[in-house]
Amino acid sequence: MRLVQVALDLPVPRLFDYRLEGAIEGDPAGRLVKVPFGPSGKPSKIGVVVGAITHSDQPAEKLKAAEIVATLPALPHEWLELCRFCAQYYHHPLGQVMAFALPPLLRQGKRPRQLQPKVGAGETAPPAGNRPTADQQTAIDAIVAAQGFTTFLLHGVTGSGKTEVYLRAIEAVLAKGGQALMLVPEIALTPQLEARVRDRFPAARIVVATSGVADAARARAFLAALAGEADIVLGTRLAVFMPLPRLGLIVVDEEHDPSFKQQDGLRYSARDVAIWRARQRNVPIVLGSATPSLETFHHAMNGRYTLLALPERAVATAELPTVVTVDTRQQKLQDGLSQELIAAVSERLQRKEQSLVFLNRRGYAPVLACPACGWISRCRRCAANLVLHLVDRRLRCHHCGLEAPIPRACPDCGNLDTQPFGRGTQRLEERLATLFPEARILRIDRDSADSPRKWQALLEKIHRGEADILIGTQMLAKGHDFPRLTLVGVVGADAALFAADFRAPERLFGQLMQVGGRSGRHQLPGEVLIQTEYPDHPLYRALAAHDYAAFAREQLDDREAAGFPPFSFQAMLRAEAGELADALAFLKDAVSRAPSFAGVTLYDPVPMRLFRVNSRERAQLLVEAKSRRELHAFLDDWLTTLHALKTPRGLRWHLDVDPLDY
Ligand code: ADP
Ligand code: ZN
Ligand code: ZN
Repeated sequence: MRLVQVALDLPVPRLFDYRLEGAIEGDPAGRLVKVPFGPSGKPSKIGVVVGAITHSDQPAEKLKAAEIVATLPALPHEWLELCRFCAQYYHHPLGQVMAFALPPLLRQGKRPRQLQPKVGAGETAPPAGNRPTADQQTAIDAIVAAQGFTTFLLHGVTGSGKTEVYLRAIEAVLAKGGQALMLVPEIALTPQLEARVRDRFPAARIVVATSGVADAARARAFLAALAGEADIVLGTRLAVFMPLPRLGLIVVDEEHDPSFKQQDGLRYSARDVAIWRARQRNVPIVLGSATPSLETFHHAMNGRYTLLALPERAVATAELPTVVTVDTRQQKLQDGLSQELIAAVSERLQRKEQSLVFLNRRGYAPVLACPACGWISRCRRCAANLVLHLVDRRLRCHHCGLEAPIPRACPDCGNLDTQPFGRGTQRLEERLATLFPEARILRIDRDSADSPRKWQALLEKIHRGEADILIGTQMLAKGHDFPRLTLVGVVGADAALFAADFRAPERLFGQLMQVGGRSGRHQLPGEVLIQTEYPDHPLYRALAAHDYAAFAREQLDDREAAGFPPFSFQAMLRAEAGELADALAFLKDAVSRAPSFAGVTLYDPVPMRLFRVNSRERAQLLVEAKSRRELHAFLDDWLTTLHALKTPRGLRWHLDVDPLDY
């Protein structure tokens, strides 16, 4: 009788023993199996064989039979190791890690019908690409010459041609018969990028892996990659779980982007997992960004990562934009717009150039208020306000999706004159339309681009020059190249300067640098106007000087003084329940059961900033340690206790390792 241990998609950190039915050759590890689970005794679940065992603690007559899914190949040893690493590092049940890492179809034990991935025609000669600049060549040479595992930080200003460096490095890997994995942030994976890669490698087998890809295609891509039949895997964070037997290079573009961190279930950082994979395979990895995360920059400074710099734009005529602040303390704004910004937009209109007004808040106004009695539009399910959307005349919660019509009168006092308070993109749009009736205005936010198709259509419209003024949220900040864009106006950025979250300045700096970097990428010089009440703030000064390093050093000094990452290592235990008190009580109990580790600090449980979402109340507890090893030793010990606790019904908890959100 052969015994195996099987990982199942269940929220418990343990494996299950089964008998293996039928004869199979070789090691059963990595095979998908159909197993009975629960009282019915019928095969009902799909699991992954983790390994053969010689002995089970279960009595032999109790062991049920696992049936191998013969139509699917075994998952490679390396892939099992990858999942095991994630299970350990993120303290997540192995079966759930695997279930997440597998495409949905395979997770159900099904095989997609047709298998071949799309292959380029391969007849046309590939375009040569631009002749690399000296800086690009230095970077390419270093990556291509890397012997084994090396982490590169490609720190290149916006428009410096990082993509060209990636493509050349990938070219070298393909020429040696290797596979390349390229990860990009969610919003950046557009058909243009895919087309650019396909264009450049017409003979390569390229698969795209994102959560947006249909189930069958995702399963096909996975199996093709597993069989070594994909040369390039291009995808968002979940692509980091693609099996790649010939892996030769990993690229993580915009490595600082928060979308690489998953915020539910398996809370992994695709960038960090990618680095682990590069080490596992002993291959180079390139992290690219104009505004690296401070963690990454820190490692580049202390020599753990190799820094490759592209300090100038690749196109000789494209200069970095001029960045100036507009002091808004001394003037009356028109719906948030200063005289200077209005004049600058007007100038662009006359010159037939594009302007972009950046405001990271969608909707018309963040809240509807009654000046007579103080009523404000609140979400009854969340600790948040209902945002006023005038376009479709609704009040809408951005956290739980609750919608309500706009009340004709104040629900509390009957006052007919309720007022929008504050401003969002729709209000800016309205004001700009009044100021510039002749201009073609395009608003780009999650309301106007609520599907990839609409987003695509909007991008194409901008590229065709069919808009004079763009109004956008951070959606517009990434990777896009708008030839006639010469002005970026930044509105309402100050709030992030003083946010409670210690990562807020890092994010703000990155966003503003990115969005500013959209301008002046071609012959026309770009200008960035930042409206602020703090024109002398060091963050804005560093932006004006295009001095990421100065900003980063200052932030790192602050973090070192405060003992924040990357100078400490954190995990967050979060609990949610119907009542905040229950969530807090659970966390307090968890604290009292924590083993004592000298280098580990547990902070007091506190309600989360947004403590109620969708009628669930949430609290959290920060754990901080001096060393990563100590943190994980502590967590291993602590979580064993927590998993054994009987929690009240309706209470759920999870652990977030290296949390990005507070
Ligand atoms: P980044 O990703 O660093 O912002 P891109 O890779 O998008 O920059 O390149 C910016 C622009 O510069 C693109 O239009 C690209 O075609 C062009 N470019 C890149 N490298 C070169 C080069 N060596 N010579 C001329 N143009 C280049
Ligand atoms: Zn009222
Ligand atoms: Zn809500």
